[in-house]
Amino acid sequence: MLDAMGIQVWSRRQQRQPGDAAEITLPDEAEEQLHDWDSLQQSVENCNRCTIAATRTQTVFGTGNQNAELMIIGEAPGADEDRQGEPFVGRAGQLLNQMLLACGFGREQVYIANILKCRPQANRNPSPE
Ligand code: SF4
Repeated sequence: MLDAMGIQVWSRRQQRQPGDAAEITLPDEAEEQLHDWDSLQQSVENCNRCTIAATRTQTVFGTGNQNAELMIIGEAPGADEDRQGEPFVGRAGQLLNQMLLACGFGREQVYIANILKCRPQANRNPSPE
């Protein structure tokens, strides 16, 4: 069973066009939260749902155009991202910026985030938890 946060994340992945047979209907409250970035960001900032919370410097929510048609999703923040609170700011970020430019996008035109919002210690692989 999904809680409110789970519904938001899950529904983002499952969004369909109106009229699609698989269109998803969310409860009004969840639908409102889906479009409330401030609430979602605050939920992440206060999140202690897994053990990574104890070792992070700060959460790394995401950055960029919240209405972008293109979203770049990484695995998890690294050391640079943990320090600065923004995804893809280290060497990987420089490479990503160059790749985006080669595709005709500025970094500010897309939305960039990670699946995990906190850095796993020593960049270990995320656990099932
Ligand atoms: S990694 Fe995700 S679930 Fe774990 S504490 Fe951070 S925001 Fe919460």
